[in-house]
Amino acid sequence: MRYSLATLTRRANPGMRRRAIVLRDIVAPATLATDLFRAAYAPIIQAWTRHAETIIAEYERSLSQLTTDSPSDLQARLAAAETEMERLYILLDAAVQDWAVRTEKWQRGKFRGAVLSATGVDLNTLIGPEDVRGTLDQIIAWNTSLIRDVSDQARQRIGNAVFSGLTERRPAREVAKEIREAVAMSRRRATGIASDQLSKLTSSLAAERRREAGLSIYKYRHSGKKHPREDHRARDGKLYGETPADAGQSVDGQTVNAPIAAGQRAGQLPWCGCREQGVVVFD
Ligand SMILES: [Zn+2]
Repeated sequence: MRYSLATLTRRANPGMRRRAIVLRDIVAPATLATDLFRAAYAPIIQAWTRHAETIIAEYERSLSQLTTDSPSDLQARLAAAETEMERLYILLDAAVQDWAVRTEKWQRGKFRGAVLSATGVDLNTLIGPEDVRGTLDQIIAWNTSLIRDVSDQARQRIGNAVFSGLTERRPAREVAKEIREAVAMSRRRATGIASDQLSKLTSSLAAERRREAGLSIYKYRHSGKKHPREDHRARDGKLYGETPADAGQSVDGQTVNAPIAAGQRAGQLPWCGCREQGVVVFD
């Protein structure tokens, strides 16, 4: 804990009789996920879309000529694509950094607003980006490796289509379809990654901001998505503690539940859009 929000709230509101205050829900806008996709993943997909067409053309040529050196021409095309990706990575890594910094700023502003409207306490000078440096570095490192993974997977699928196609003398039309589908798969995967990474980052940041403020209890907020995880839906509106010591106490007539395992927390599992709202408890 870097400061006690409960203490600051009491000081700002003498004579207040409330036992607990739930901070409002913070929902990350989908545009932040779109931003990540556009800045860090889309350039890889665009580059592969372009290279896919030259590889398809080369395949057609190789198949018609049936020359022995044709596989090496295809190898060269794939290698050229890879060289371009290597150059792209430097720019994309910087784009991921920018995005993480912007998203942190957005989340911090929302947390500050939620605290201000619920308690009258302004956190402006109390919290800053440097407090969550570790979380940002982690998400940046993870995304830089995901970018490479998306590209490697596209290269592998395209390579497989081309070389097994040559071995089996498959018509160019069929192989072209497979190659374009490989690129489309990468695009779908990257779109999913971007929205998932946004949930992971914002939920991790929210947890850190609560920890700093000394808030060890939170209210679970189910995403309300279609096809929900039933156990997540069942948690909606319930209170949970960060540590076993928080469990069992009564807050505003609700009993605090035992901690949820770290990897199972809101926003951590794939496609989980659930959230955790901080609860300020006064004793
Ligand atoms: Zn969920």
